Amino acid sequence: MINTRINQLIRYAKEHLYLGMDDEYLAVNQILYLLKLTHFEKEEVSEDIDFFSLIDDVLTYAKENQILTSDTITEKDAFEAKLVDCLMPRPSEINRLFHQFYKKGPLTATTFFHVLSKASNYIKTKRIDQNVHYVYEGKYAPLEITINLSKPEKDPKDIQKQAMIADKYPACVLCMENIGVYQSTNLAPRSNHRVVSISLNHEQDAWGFQYSPYAYFNEHCIILRKEHSPMYVNDRTFDELVDFINKFPHYLIGSNAGLPIVGGSILNHHHFQGGRYDFPIENAKVLKHYKRGKVHYDILDWPLSVVRVSSNNENSLLDAVKDLYKAWNKYHNPELNIYQSTEEEHNTVTPILKLNGSTYEFYIVLRNNYSTKEQPYGLFHPKEELFHIKKENIGLIEVMGLAILPGRLLYELDLIEACLVEGKNPKDYPELEKHLAWIETLKEKDITKDNCKEVLKQEVGTLFEEVLEDCNVFKYGTKEDLYKFVESQL
Ligand SMILES: [Zn+2]
Repeated sequence: MINTRINQLIRYAKEHLYLGMDDEYLAVNQILYLLKLTHFEKEEVSEDIDFFSLIDDVLTYAKENQILTSDTITEKDAFEAKLVDCLMPRPSEINRLFHQFYKKGPLTATTFFHVLSKASNYIKTKRIDQNVHYVYEGKYAPLEITINLSKPEKDPKDIQKQAMIADKYPACVLCMENIGVYQSTNLAPRSNHRVVSISLNHEQDAWGFQYSPYAYFNEHCIILRKEHSPMYVNDRTFDELVDFINKFPHYLIGSNAGLPIVGGSILNHHHFQGGRYDFPIENAKVLKHYKRGKVHYDILDWPLSVVRVSSNNENSLLDAVKDLYKAWNKYHNPELNIYQSTEEEHNTVTPILKLNGSTYEFYIVLRNNYSTKEQPYGLFHPKEELFHIKKENIGLIEVMGLAILPGRLLYELDLIEACLVEGKNPKDYPELEKHLAWIETLKEKDITKDNCKEVLKQEVGTLFEEVLEDCNVFKYGTKEDLYKFVESQL
């Protein structure tokens, strides 16, 4: 049986993973070593191969023969990635192919790399498909809510193992050293991890381009500086983002802020996130429109303070966003609780860039991370009453109107439903403790067995909208204050 499975792996790799004829026996023999086998016979196998059941069979074999000594999801994923690595081209070959395809067009290049990253199961398509995704109409534009079930919870045994590693290598999950590493500090296995080199802002091959294994949206990619160095948002960032869009005009790209609380989860390694997706923010209504030379400024009707700066002219656009950024950096208005700096700087932006036809559209989201003793998580961060839904930093994906909520929520919502329609007592479930105040407000709504699921979904949407509103830097003032700030730029 295992001999047939190896033949199937080889056939799959020839068809989907660019395994060349010359590399066939190298791949076979690496797999034999991995599975502690010493013999192989070539068999004719049909091209109709389901990757996932094939991998399951090989993993079962490895477990039964004590090659895989633990069957935690992390261990199984790591072993699978190593198996796939035996079948895949080396990074330099993928790089060569990517740039060869790029000559035909940027879309051809990214499609090649994206399809390959799915075929190698580096992008966990099967798990991503389990995510719950729905639209919440809301009072701005329709928001998208995702309950993320794809990223597996770490097994306590694996966490313990990781905790014992003192000398952290690679230094972080975005470092280039992750390419081919068997175990990593991240949940995602890395043996089959591939990154292609790109140049941005005149820095030749200084950047890596990869896909996200637990993609939150279509073709979710990460663009990282090869050198492990901290996140920054400054004039260079805008140049880098524009250069990326010039090279990959079919993608959107954005940067998280470089400051804690309002930034993303990784602040110690400079990177951007991109993808091929239309986000809810693109449908926001325009509250006010201004024009300065070749540049348009739209203040959007959005839960956060967002200015869309657009132009057909790259230089005019860059001048305008850099000016806006500088002005926001200096903006100080204690009456509205906007403190530009105390011991450190507090103002920054979340910039996102997309091409609309031939027009560059920069979404500049104003941010501030000022915190006090009373509000240690920051004044412009979700309030503690909303932590039961979202406690983490609000980064660029959520700013654009796509909520990424934790997988535990799905189970908790089922329990809440049982309390609301079957009369169960929420206090009997420790998981519901954080939701108790919310459950009380839900009891006042007209909830029946038939509408409960839908009402809960919409209520989660309302809470997410409030989460975003909490991050609005002008929430202690009025829209006029935001208008005044932008008008000072004209
Ligand atoms: Zn790093």
